[in-house]
Amino acid sequence: MNSFILSTPTPNSSNHSGEVRDVIIIGSGPAGLAAALYAARANLKPLVITGNEIGGQIATTSELENYPGFTGQTGPELTEVMQAQAEKFGAEVKIDYIQQVDLRQRPFRLTGADGNYYTKALIIATGASHRKLGVPGEDEFTGRGVSYCATCDGFFFTDKEIVVVGGGDSAMEEAIFLTRFARKVTVIHRRDQLRAGPLLQQRAMKNEKIEFIWDTVVTRILGDETVTGLELKNVKTGETRQFKTDGVFIAIGHTPNSALFKGQLEIDDQGYVVTDKYLRTSVEGVWAAGEITDSYFRQAITSAGMGAAAAIAAERWLSEQEAEEPQTASAAA
Ligand code: NAP
Repeated sequence: MNSFILSTPTPNSSNHSGEVRDVIIIGSGPAGLAAALYAARANLKPLVITGNEIGGQIATTSELENYPGFTGQTGPELTEVMQAQAEKFGAEVKIDYIQQVDLRQRPFRLTGADGNYYTKALIIATGASHRKLGVPGEDEFTGRGVSYCATCDGFFFTDKEIVVVGGGDSAMEEAIFLTRFARKVTVIHRRDQLRAGPLLQQRAMKNEKIEFIWDTVVTRILGDETVTGLELKNVKTGETRQFKTDGVFIAIGHTPNSALFKGQLEIDDQGYVVTDKYLRTSVEGVWAAGEITDSYFRQAITSAGMGAAAAIAAERWLSEQEAEEPQTASAAA
């Protein structure tokens, strides 16, 4: 056994009355649905538990220009195709949100709003969620001028002046997309250089509706019924000022959705589930794929690749377990 595996759950010790699946996949983004396709084609009849939204982060992607073979369609369209393809081979997709897991015993137990699920192998593809600024007014005005999704909310800002916070690819993509609706988009970035790739940078810089405020952070979101402005601070001069705006889109990166597994799986200091090159986690029988374990690539295509790999690994492990089972039984007799 690889030394990376830290713990092996106690076999057949979970007190349960429910059906035991071969494989359950938590999460329905590209990693989860690719895992579902591969597990289904291996005849494992996987169950995908979707989380709050089918598709994960690409559910809010307007144009997917960098998923090979898929040109110009939207994230939800890719999700629909991936789901249908997995279902065609026997995957089952269930809308539920897992609130608790027990990975100390076999079969593993997952608890969702609809009850308990039991599985021999688990693939975690819970992805990452948008990061918050953590400033006063952010929670108060979410849905009333504060948004994390241009595709979802851009339309409400037709002919308005709005702000995008962040300097990465997401921020540039959001800013460019929002110029379809807004009269003016101001990007506020905490440094004087963008993190975004050159192509998106160029497109944003060339766009006449986009302006930039550099070296500046948002310290407060102001408003009455809806957002009316921001309090800004220049990080170089320390100067603070107020800036009028009708809305603010926050695009400052993501946090892995790993809270569910704290104390049961090895998690790094950034919150990512630690895996080895076979995507095995620190508990035997549990794999992780996509942005829950990947802070570096973070693309739909790399997540899908990891999902497929995790399902292949899980299938091989299940076969090995099955081959070992009679031996264990005779040894016990
Ligand atoms: P990201 O690359 O981590 O960028 C986050 C941005 O937000 C950075 O500019 C960062 O500033 C800023 N930021 C972080 N915390 C902040 C805070 N508290 N206050 C103010 N600013 C803050 O995240 P992302 O843009 O969401 O992209 C995630 C991944 O997806 C990346 O790998 C990206 O390449 C990929 N992606 C690709 C595409 C595409 O190719 N079409 C589109 C979207 C995303 P600093 O720069 O100072 O750190």
